[in-house]
Amino acid sequence: MFDEYDNNNIFARILRGEIPCKKVHEDEYTLAFEDINPQAPVHTLVIPKGRYISMKDFSATASDAEIAGLIRAVGKVAAMKGLKESGYRILANAGPNSHQEVPHLHIHVFGGQPLGPMLVKK
Ligand code: AMP
Repeated sequence: MFDEYDNNNIFARILRGEIPCKKVHEDEYTLAFEDINPQAPVHTLVIPKGRYISMKDFSATASDAEIAGLIRAVGKVAAMKGLKESGYRILANAGPNSHQEVPHLHIHVFGGQPLGPMLVKK
């Protein structure tokens, strides 16, 4: 599953401007936009501009500047969304067990209400 980067995945198409998004932030390394199906009052996605499938390849092959850029953008987006005091949760799915749906690395930023326990209990 997701062995090779798919240039036509939906976030690649957003990065190319082929599909619209509600942009929150953009810089040299990242784009942040509102999730189309929000799971909390704030649900923003932060993605690297590079061709990375998940944290698996990003952590192994991205440059230090790209890694720093993504983490700094997450902090910036959380602040822009007014979550610095109330707090927030970040989440990045990677691979089959995680239920990753879009094969371009994305960090979810959730907030705006108490978010409950970290994982659904079985
Ligand atoms: P994941 O399950 O971690 O891969 O999450 C994929 C996320 O992408 C889901 O929360 C979707 O609602 C979101 N999503 C899918 N298509 C779009 C889109 N066109 N614009 C914004 N968010 C999207």
